[in-house]
Amino acid sequence: MTSNFSCVYLGDKLAAYGFGENHPFGPQRHHVFEQALYRQALDQHVDILSPVKTDNKTLEIFHTAEYVEKIIEQSKFGVGYLDNGDTPAFIGMYEAVCYVAGTMVNAIERLMDAQYKRAFVPIAGLHHARRNTAAGFCVINDCGIAIETLFKKYRLQRVAYVDIDAHHGDGVFYSFEEDPRLIFVDLHEDGRFLYPGTGDISETGRGSAAGTKLNIPMPPRADDELFFNMWPHVENFLEKHQPEFILFQCGADSIKGDPITDMAYSEKAHAYAAKRLAIIADKYCGGKLLAMGGGGYNHENIAKTWTAVVSALAE
Ligand SMILES: [Zn+2]
Repeated sequence: MTSNFSCVYLGDKLAAYGFGENHPFGPQRHHVFEQALYRQALDQHVDILSPVKTDNKTLEIFHTAEYVEKIIEQSKFGVGYLDNGDTPAFIGMYEAVCYVAGTMVNAIERLMDAQYKRAFVPIAGLHHARRNTAAGFCVINDCGIAIETLFKKYRLQRVAYVDIDAHHGDGVFYSFEEDPRLIFVDLHEDGRFLYPGTGDISETGRGSAAGTKLNIPMPPRADDELFFNMWPHVENFLEKHQPEFILFQCGADSIKGDPITDMAYSEKAHAYAAKRLAIIADKYCGGKLLAMGGGGYNHENIAKTWTAVVSALAE
């Protein structure tokens, strides 16, 4: 065990996942977080680790081989889109996604080896991509890769995925809708008002997975008060299913002032969720909690929200 029980991954190889300086999902998202982390001296409370690269085999634990081949091909020239117009290809895209996925898998290894109890990967939580396609700025779905890794490599039977990004985690939800091993909880802006339009409260899992998914649509402009009112449902659900590992997608686009959503939480919501999930992880998961930055397109919000989460994880 190192001196700190939490780790944070930082580096240009993670920042390289994005669509250029002029796109809302650009490299600055990583840099503003990194600067805020050092400004707050959080590096004294968490270990800073470098991104780790993986290869197509890891991507294929979740994605189809055909889709991975398409990523490799379109990465060469960076032309066109990987979906119907939301997610452009870029040169070096394949290497960038291999770093996002590789870093997530490295974090899992370290948590499963008990080197750390908590980990945070800022450029991760790409929750819209499906097994065979990109969607909503997500070339791959690193959450799906992480979940499949925990199922296939570590033989876990109950993995929790908790998502408080403004958008519904549809790529995770529909990929595991019939898998009872994924305990899925998602608070998001109501799909009638925001992309991707899914995540109705009636969507609770199918077949043997019925009852293992909890979708909580929130009205536009939902604030901290409403978040704190709804949060006990999340804890009750996790208590009921007693997961062995918790993944946490803490997208900062649900904070007031995001340019592409209408939510109105403050960073206190995210810090509180992280703190409470850490307590549940200590109770059922031997402490294992892996947080992902997710969305967020207001730089000030990213800096204060992700550092608030890291601070809560390091407590
Ligand atoms: Zn989002």
